[in-house]
Amino acid sequence: MGEAGNNRRECQRCGRRDEWDEAAEKWVIAVEDGERRVGNKHCVHEWDIDGAYNPVEGPRAAGEE
Ligand SMILES: [Zn+2]
Repeated sequence: MGEAGNNRRECQRCGRRDEWDEAAEKWVIAVEDGERRVGNKHCVHEWDIDGAYNPVEGPRAAGEE
């Protein structure tokens, strides 16, 4: 919290990009050129941001779509 400017993250593996939604207080998938940068949904994303990865969405069962 309070880390100004650190509102984007990109996966170094699959190219997924997220943006921090301040209103919703969660990461949302970035949209560029009308395309959602979802990357690979099976990727265990490694974000190119400093600090610990915070899996705010919680654990997911295998096979989740
Ligand atoms: Zn990824």
